[in-house]
Amino acid sequence: MPGPTMLGVAGWPVAHSRSPRMFAPALAAAGLDWRYVHLPLAPERFVATARVLGASGYRGINVTLPHKEAAHDLADELSPAAAAIGAVNTLTYGDGAIHGDNTDAGGFLDALGADPAGWRCLVIGAGGSARAVVWALREAGGEVAVWNRTAARAAALAADLGVGQAAEPFAADLLVNCTSVGLDQAVEPGEAAAAVGLAGLEPPAVLFDLTYGAGPTPLCRWAEAGGARAVDGAEMLVRQGARSFERWTGRPADLDAMRAGFRA
Ligand code: NAP
Repeated sequence: MPGPTMLGVAGWPVAHSRSPRMFAPALAAAGLDWRYVHLPLAPERFVATARVLGASGYRGINVTLPHKEAAHDLADELSPAAAAIGAVNTLTYGDGAIHGDNTDAGGFLDALGADPAGWRCLVIGAGGSARAVVWALREAGGEVAVWNRTAARAAALAADLGVGQAAEPFAADLLVNCTSVGLDQAVEPGEAAAAVGLAGLEPPAVLFDLTYGAGPTPLCRWAEAGGARAVDGAEMLVRQGARSFERWTGRPADLDAMRAGFRA
């Protein structure tokens, strides 16, 4: 008798990932007896293992640090988002081919909860998450500029994705923090804002901080004190997971079940 259909999250390290806790209640809500597990894969083993999981009962895996670029390179087919961003966070096994997608981009827009077409958007940071956010906002019709502590990285990202590079941070309609600043909840809101070049600026209408914690992040607190609407990274994690869920199962994800699992 075949075992249950398998799903998982591959990373190194990966024990901290909340994805199994988020997927278990969503699978149960959909009446699916599938399993979602942690897959700790060292970089030197990732490609060889990811290639054979489809033959071992896996329908798909989420991919996290440091494997997103390797997952992009091993996929047989790529979604437009994955191809443009150059990173894959969702592999799907089926029909003898491995499909790569990037649900961070769509998950970000879902979590934003508004249509950014025509908005002046400032993305702070130039790493992997900034690439996904810049691409998502550009595709959605936002007017996007990038600013980063290391200007050369912002210039490379802006040129690659065809958006602007800001000489300095400015008061945008939407400001997205794609740096790791603010992970420390104890940092004062003003200090967090200053660390990403926002000292002295009015908060934007909407601030999206990709980091998250037990409570509002320091940057979210800074923005809310100035009257902004603030969104943190927890909802983006839920939404990118929901998009992966739907890709693999063909069914809508129970978002409340995923949120409850994430917070458990
Ligand atoms: P990354 O590729 O390592 O990029 C890190 C970025 O942060 C770079 O732009 C770096 O600037 C900047 N940075 C780091 N320390 C800084 C400091 N002290 N001051 C100013 N800038 C600093 O990381 P990533 O994968 O893009 O992830 C960034 C953050 O987003 C992480 O906290 C991650 O957990 C979070 N994230 C959340 C989600 C979600 O679903 N919520 C998804 C992906 C990532 P330099 O280029 O100058 O070094």
